[in-house]
Amino acid sequence: MIVVDGHLDLAMCALDWNRDLRLSALETRRQEAGMAQKGRGTGTVGFPEMRAGQVALSFATAFARVAWPGSGVSGYRTQEIAYGHAMGHLAYYRQLAANGGVRLVASRADLDRHLAEWSEPIRPGAGPEEPPLGFVVSMEGADAIVSPEQVPEWWANGLRIVSLCHYGFSAYAHGTGMPGGLLPRGRPLLRAMEEVGMILDVSHLAEQAFYVDQIDHVCQVAGDARHAAIGSDLDGGYGTEQCPHDLDTIADLQKVPDLLQRRGYAEDDIRLVMHGNWVRLLREALPAS
Ligand SMILES: [Zn+2]
Repeated sequence: MIVVDGHLDLAMCALDWNRDLRLSALETRRQEAGMAQKGRGTGTVGFPEMRAGQVALSFATAFARVAWPGSGVSGYRTQEIAYGHAMGHLAYYRQLAANGGVRLVASRADLDRHLAEWSEPIRPGAGPEEPPLGFVVSMEGADAIVSPEQVPEWWANGLRIVSLCHYGFSAYAHGTGMPGGLLPRGRPLLRAMEEVGMILDVSHLAEQAFYVDQIDHVCQVAGDARHAAIGSDLDGGYGTEQCPHDLDTIADLQKVPDLLQRRGYAEDDIRLVMHGNWVRLLREALPAS
């Protein structure tokens, strides 16, 4: 069953951690053997594992945070630096797409074409006839957008989803672990985002509990399976040491349908959680072409 993963910091792994994501996560572990930094040698994400896990589409982040005085988080000194860094993330995705094997999904037309190519069961290792991995470019914390006037430039480059803040606070709003809402610059940014049709991401998931408990919880609270989806955040600054014990690589997302079935979820509901809910949201929110 195909998976839409609503959160992967792929460009961070490539640019900030110097990982070649086209390699297997297992190969990257070998390359990083002996490195002391947290998360090194224990990564879970490579394109081969994404294919094996049928992760047809993911929300791939381009982001950089400013260390605003008092926010208590690490980051860059200025928004200009954050802009340059996050544009680098975006440039990486564009280059992967230019090389083939990756597709940037920026419109409903892209989405429909992409899902049609993934509708047949995929045999990992089938070679060039394998459909590309699809990425919807998203931003986690909006510091890299220097001003509302810059939103159209980001849009033209393929950015489609933005959350205003991450941890601490951003130029625009308070985030996880901070009381407070929008900052004065937040409102004009939201207006600029609305003008181009940018999707606003209001999630700030902080928990790392096993997905199935979370999914089940959301479904119980909502009363149906239409409001839960996957945003794995795998390799978002850590590796297997911070993963559920039965998850070795991203390919193991394919265990989730089985786990949901054992909790009594019907096939149709499992499809919604694995990809259907994200696809519905994207169909409603992306521009037609
Ligand atoms: Zn992230």
